[in-house]
Amino acid sequence: MSLDVSLLQQADLAPPPPLLLNLLETSHHILCISHVSPDGDAVGSLLGLAWILRAMGKRPVLALQDDLIQEFQFLPGVEEIIGPAAVAHNYDLIVCLDTSSVDRMGTVYCSEIHSQIPLIVIDHHITNTFFGTENWVDVGSVATCQMLVRLADALDVPLTEQMAVSLLTGLVTDTLCFRTANTDANVLQATLRLLVAGADLSHIVRNTLDSRSFSLLKLWGAGLASVQMEDGIIWTTLSAESRQQSGVELHQSDGLANFLVTVREADISATFSQRFAQSGQELIECSFRAKPGFNVSQVAFTFGGGGHPPAAGCTVAGRLQDVSSRVVAALQEMRRQSLAGR
Ligand code: AMP
Ligand code: MN
Ligand code: MN
Repeated sequence: MSLDVSLLQQADLAPPPPLLLNLLETSHHILCISHVSPDGDAVGSLLGLAWILRAMGKRPVLALQDDLIQEFQFLPGVEEIIGPAAVAHNYDLIVCLDTSSVDRMGTVYCSEIHSQIPLIVIDHHITNTFFGTENWVDVGSVATCQMLVRLADALDVPLTEQMAVSLLTGLVTDTLCFRTANTDANVLQATLRLLVAGADLSHIVRNTLDSRSFSLLKLWGAGLASVQMEDGIIWTTLSAESRQQSGVELHQSDGLANFLVTVREADISATFSQRFAQSGQELIECSFRAKPGFNVSQVAFTFGGGGHPPAAGCTVAGRLQDVSSRVVAALQEMRRQSLAGR
């Protein structure tokens, strides 16, 4: 007996609003943007949408603040992505993907120049600030790429291999290859459709989650050497010096928080990476992960960042030791309250 996967219900997932579909159908000169330090869902949704728009006969412009790391260079169409300096003024629509707040686009989006242009936001972060003129935010989707499968359907665009490779990359990276607690039948149904459309799952996993540089491993070594654990929180700090010595690419997420949260005795993990802005200001990139039952997005939001209940982050100005102690204290308080509420 065979199963017709198209019969599985997607009713609990928010469909794209009609106004959004209308804007995409009637606009021609479209700028697509995703977030700084792009991850797999940022790049995958950016390229995926571009392939959908091209199938509709449009010629989208794709822009990112930061260079793509090695892991995403295999994706179809990456050579078309431009940096902030090449972004023009005269688009008739801007679409922002996988981005929870306006500042996360970096200088690619300049409100003085672009605020007159309609801005569509397509995102799945619980901390989204609804900064667009049209916002489609679905926290029930595991990745922005999952929403774009529904967008292609709503626009009557058949899935191609290029769309499928791009979109499956976001699904794979945001779910850590279908291991996160939000991976459900809808996610696997979308994945099945992308596989049928020509995406190669093992190729995507090998290029993204299963690929790291020797430099990154050395950086992990430095982080693991000074790891600490207290009251169910495990954390480490990474100095700018150790990052520089390791030679890890600037926009490479270290991924160490994902590894730390696998420690059995820990409920929550955090990494604190020091960097210096061009002005010389000390900035700490904080990355959090939580086991089910704990919500790190709220703590990240309090410190000016955002994310999802099990994975979030923020950038905090201050000294490495001061910031890490303050943030660890906030994580401990959140954990105490979560345990008390059970
Ligand atoms: P990361 O730890 O960098 O993999 O990020 C985990 C999640 O937190 C992702 O969904 C990011 O979009 C979000 N996130 C990370 N850093 C920030 C930040 N500085 N501001 C807002 N959201 C962030
Ligand atoms: Mn992302
Ligand atoms: Mn995402």
